[in-house]
This record gives sequence, structure tokens and C-alpha cells, in this order.
Amino acid sequence: MNIIVCIKQVPDTQDIRINPETNTLMREGVQSIVNPFDMYAIEEALRIKEKLGGKITVICMGPQQADSALREAVSMGVDEMVLMCDRAFAGSDTWATSYTLAKGIQKLGKFDLIICGKQAIDGDTAQVGPGIAATLDIPQVTYVKKTEEIKEDMARFEKMTEEGFEVIETPLPCLITVVKEINIPRLPSLKGKIRAKQAPVTTLTAKDIDAEPEKLGLKGSPTVVKKVFTPPKRTGGQILQGETNEVVAKLVEALKDMVVAAGKT
Ligand SMILES: Cc1cc2nc3c(=O)[nH]c(=O)nc-3n(C[C@H](O)[C@H](O)[C@H](O)COP(=O)(O)OP(=O)(O)OC[C@H]3O[C@@H](n4cnc5c(N)ncnc54)[C@H](O)[C@@H]3O)c2cc1C
Repeated sequence: MNIIVCIKQVPDTQDIRINPETNTLMREGVQSIVNPFDMYAIEEALRIKEKLGGKITVICMGPQQADSALREAVSMGVDEMVLMCDRAFAGSDTWATSYTLAKGIQKLGKFDLIICGKQAIDGDTAQVGPGIAATLDIPQVTYVKKTEEIKEDMARFEKMTEEGFEVIETPLPCLITVVKEINIPRLPSLKGKIRAKQAPVTTLTAKDIDAEPEKLGLKGSPTVVKKVFTPPKRTGGQILQGETNEVVAKLVEALKDMVVAAGKT
């Protein structure tokens, strides 16, 4: 089984600061981490490989510093790492990101399964996984919470829905995006950490991926961010104090009043 895992390096959200003049993310001095949902994607790939054998390649589009995210994946047991890094990729929106990653994946050769996180905690759009599948014209299953069965040419997954779950069977190759319910990511081993320090990174630039230049980066991005802002804090809340029983009784009364008031209007 030849598995590709897409991971994104994101700022640690507790640290996020926006430049109020330019409305862009202030990355200076901000700690970067592997997007938490992508840790579940890495773990799922490792579990599938442990059952079926094969190779796992982790791929990231980002600046040179994203190398450390790739090495973290290798320290968990991933075999190979690819960094898609070129000034031509800068300013990519989700469409251009999906296109670029898909072209990189095509360049790597034959694959059976692509695993992405459900979404990235900074962009939060959940569009890149489905975008890659659309560009590569392969089936996709999003919000996967369980790999039920996986064989050479088919796979069956449980997909989380608002009401419960659906069981989806699909031919391979396909792309899945995973939710945190799917597994518990392992910690890197000491051996893994040592290997990760020395392992080579394959770098792919715009020239390497046979991409149409007008589809890359800012130029190739059909969407534009107009404004980034933090909504003002809500005011006027009421804090109930006292023993739990008293507070619960007060809360019930307050809710009743609210329901009655809403009914009158
Ligand atoms: C108009 C516009 C302009 C932008 N300009 C910039 C910019 O100049 N600089 C900048 O850094 N960002 C920019 N962004 C943000 C950037 O496009 C998104 O972060 C990126 O497209 C991924 O989208 P997302 O974070 O919503 O990922 P999601 O779609 O939420 O991520 C889902 C999954 O896709 C995979 N994935 C996502 N991104 C990557 C990646 N880069 N490499 C590997 N796997 C990935 C991961 O598995 C992830 O869990 C811009 C966005 C827009 C809309």
C-alpha cells in the first residue's frame, strides 16, 4: 500500500496575533506545530501500513521551516518526506494549494491512498483534501472516523455525519480526510527521533511538478481575503453565584424567563 499523508505546519493557535494594519498573520516569534488533525492522518497511515505493508510519504507545501513538521512525522515512523517549497507557491488560496499539492503527488508516482486532516486549525476551511481529490479526479471520503476494511483495490470507511455515521465503500486510489475520533496518535520513539534528524527531504519546486504557472500562488488564487478581524467580545452576560443547587435553580428560572420573553415577542 502506497500512502501519501498531507500535513500542514500551522501557528500554535494559542499564540495567534493579527497585524491590525495589514490584516495578515504575524508569524514572527510564533511557535509552529503540525496541524493537530494531521497527527491523526499520520497515525492512521502507520496503522494501515502495519497491517498491509508498503510505504508512507508525508508531503507539505510551505516555507523551508516546514521541514521540522515533516521530521516530526518521520519520527513517528513515516518513511519519506517531501517539501513543496517555492516563492511561486506563496499567497496560494485553498484552490491553488490543492492544485499544487495534487501536482506534487502526481509527480511522486503511483499511490493507493491519500490521507488529509479534516481541516487546518488556522485556515479552517476543510477544502484542501476535497480539492486535491477533485484535481486528481479520484473518489473522496471526508470526516472518516474508522477504517473498517482496506484491501489492494477497495476500502470501506465509517464517515461521521451530524446524525451518526455512514459506511462508504470506494475503489482505490482514493482520498480520505480524518477526524480526531479515528485513533490516538503515537508518540515518537527515540529511534524515530534519531532517524528523523538524519533523513533526507525531497524538495519539489514549481519547475519540478509540471504545473501551469498561472495556476500557482497568488496569481493562481481565485479568492482574496478582504478583511481578517476578531469579533468584539459579547457583553451583558450574567454570572450566577452560590452553591450548585442554588445556581441550577437560578439558571432554570432565568431560562424559563427567557423562553417566556421570547414567546411574547
Ligand atoms: C485568498 C487567500 C490567500 C491566502 N494567502 C496566503 C498566504 O499568502 N500565505 C499563507 O501561508 N496562506 C495563505 N492563505 C491560506 C492558505 O491558502 C490556506 O492555509 C491553505 O490553502 C490551506 O487551507 P486551510 O488552512 O483552510 O486548510 P484545510 O483545507 O482546512 O486543510 C485540510 C487538510 O489539508 C491538508 N493541507 C492543507 N494545507 C496544506 C499544505 N499547505 N500542505 C500540505 N497539506 C495541507 C492537511 O491535511 C489539512 O489537514 C490564503 C488563503 C486565501 C483564501
